[in-house]
Amino acid sequence: MSDIALLPQVEAFLGRHHALFIDGRYVESQGSQTLDVINPATGRVIAQVSDATGGDIDAAVESSRRGFKQWSQAAPAVRGLVLLKLADLLERHREELAQIETCQSGKIIQISRAFEVDQAAHFLRYYAGWATKINGETITPSLPSFAGERYTAFTLREPVGVVVGIVPWNFSTMIAIWKLASALVTGCSIIIKPSEFTPLTILRVAELAIEAGLPAGALNVLTGGGQVGKGLIEHPGTNKVSFTGSVPTGIAVGRAAMGAGLTRATLELGGKNSAGFLRDIDTEVAVNGIIEAGFLHSGQICAAAERFFVHRSQIEPIMDSLAQRLGKLNIGSPLDERTEFGPVTHRQHQQKLGEFFVRARAQNNTIIHGGKLMEGPGCYVEPTIIFANRRDDALLNEETFGPIATFFPYDSEEELLDLMNDTPYGLSASLWTNDLGKALRMVPAIEAGTVWVNMHTLLDPAVPFGGSKSSGIGREFGSAFIDDYTELKSVMIRY
Ligand code: NAD
Repeated sequence: MSDIALLPQVEAFLGRHHALFIDGRYVESQGSQTLDVINPATGRVIAQVSDATGGDIDAAVESSRRGFKQWSQAAPAVRGLVLLKLADLLERHREELAQIETCQSGKIIQISRAFEVDQAAHFLRYYAGWATKINGETITPSLPSFAGERYTAFTLREPVGVVVGIVPWNFSTMIAIWKLASALVTGCSIIIKPSEFTPLTILRVAELAIEAGLPAGALNVLTGGGQVGKGLIEHPGTNKVSFTGSVPTGIAVGRAAMGAGLTRATLELGGKNSAGFLRDIDTEVAVNGIIEAGFLHSGQICAAAERFFVHRSQIEPIMDSLAQRLGKLNIGSPLDERTEFGPVTHRQHQQKLGEFFVRARAQNNTIIHGGKLMEGPGCYVEPTIIFANRRDDALLNEETFGPIATFFPYDSEEELLDLMNDTPYGLSASLWTNDLGKALRMVPAIEAGTVWVNMHTLLDPAVPFGGSKSSGIGREFGSAFIDDYTELKSVMIRY
């Protein structure tokens, strides 16, 4: 096993002093606090970034207001073109960006290349296409006239203003791209606040955005902890927050946004997603599906499944076959192209997963496979299969955001639906069956923002995505994002 060599430009980027990205260039923080960026595969500090201060927040917001003024006046075709150029630049710098991402997040290099760069470029191009298609409508007013006068009306879609994009650590580039693409294509400016654990790649993307022709101030990046996000939301100069992260932080963000004078808020939050396997499903198909649904990127995907419901008659063979497959996974360095399963992204997360194992044992859950943190400097966690005893066991109800598949048996399809919906979350779910008619009849009964059939986790820019119940408010992708990034202005005329 051997790691790929880091490109010289990656070594140079990591070795740099990282300032804040404000007004199209790097600007020194007004404070002196820094945050270490740690490679979770090695435990080594690979860079330091600034922890932005209140003064930095003011400077970024001022720049974004100027950026908004200019960018909102750009012709839609120009906005689209800049996003298309940025997509090209991401691809041109594919390996460099992927390597930076893998070094900061521990994501295996193939996932960094395929998702953080290739998919991000596809999303950018999809959004670029919307630039020239965001319109209001003409309306015929409904009331009778008083004295023969006539009325007509139309709506305008106007950019909401300065957006704050708050990003988690699991897909630090792709999720930032979703937010900046939605903002920029509608004519908003945006300040990205990356996760304190993975702040590096988006700084490089911001440089590329300027190279693509984006005016200074249309995209700023402020690194730092949660207080930077809070300060941005509460700043009177920002108009909207697009937040992706955990439910507790999302609720705090929503409160702060409303308290700041009804700042618009889109909340994309956590989940405890179910995958239900109907009786007709073949064991091998089920096992492939569970690996896709639960173990990609070490389970650190908001839409990943964590609760697996299998018919009582099939649960043992499926868990046994899954254990054999997990036992053969190539666990190792994320910079080794043969690695299939890498570390989790940070130490606290690894420790949180360790606590879940302690709780599973305390609740007498059967650990079929894994169930331990792996020794060494890296943040590795064994891929794990747990058989829960009771519906209210912690592992069946709390989001772990890790490589832990918890199983529970069902006897009837009615019970399966009841189990799948027995959660306060509603981000995603999947049904696995050869009987598509049955699946389509069951889909309306499932309480989730996305329901997949015979697949799990794939996000497409054309298909709206977001949570129901406690998993969030608002939708990204498709045309659904337009409502969240524009204000609808009605114009009525008498003649
Ligand atoms: P988190 O909630 O801890 O942090 C997310 C971001 O919020 C970080 O940038 C953090 O610095 C910032 N933040 C923290 N406190 C804040 C505050 N008071 N005000 C404003 N910003 C604040 O989440 P995380 O651990 O980075 O990410 C994991 C979580 O994200 C999981 O729950 C996962 O399900 C969720 N997630 C959801 C989606 C989705 O699309 N629904 C996608 C990816 C991840």
